[in-house]
Amino acid sequence: MNLITHLLTGWALANAVPLDRRDRAIVTIASIAPDVDGLGIVVEHTPLNEIIPLHLFSDYHHVLAHNLGFGLLMFIIALIINRRKLLAPSMVFVVFHIHLLADIVGSRGPDGYQWPIPYLLPFSANCQVVWKGQWALVSWQNIAITIILMGLTIQLAWKRGYSPVEMISERADAKIIETLRARFGMPGDRTLK
Ligand SMILES: [Zn+2]
Repeated sequence: MNLITHLLTGWALANAVPLDRRDRAIVTIASIAPDVDGLGIVVEHTPLNEIIPLHLFSDYHHVLAHNLGFGLLMFIIALIINRRKLLAPSMVFVVFHIHLLADIVGSRGPDGYQWPIPYLLPFSANCQVVWKGQWALVSWQNIAITIILMGLTIQLAWKRGYSPVEMISERADAKIIETLRARFGMPGDRTLK
């Protein structure tokens, strides 16, 4: 799935448990982190790739960071950042797996390539996860899921008083909440404007 859908999924899950602002950001970032192995696309589509054909995107996207080893690494990093608490690192591990699941379910390329997930790397290269019912990256299913997640994000923002924008700017976030509440009324206030 695309980055926005992954991000909104991570945000929704971060809000399903009691986390503070920092931990919400950690869990949300973890939900898009596996796609760091797709950054090779930047190099692959430049003249540099003509000189040194590394195929950084084609060979490593959905490989390097879409496996159990990377999931465990993220869990350990979150554990170190969080010291005593287990909730946020556990959620990091959960959203990582939801990311893989979402890719298996809805990331078929325009050329029909299914981007198999080598789940057991680096422990074993023998496990390639694909689902034959996989739908395309650009498909009505992904668009529908993204719209639902956007609606949920707006509803959560209105109700709780913060949105994913808090990860970039608290001031901009406050402005968004103010706008939402001016439009839809205060949460708990039944007289909608
Ligand atoms: Zn991915």
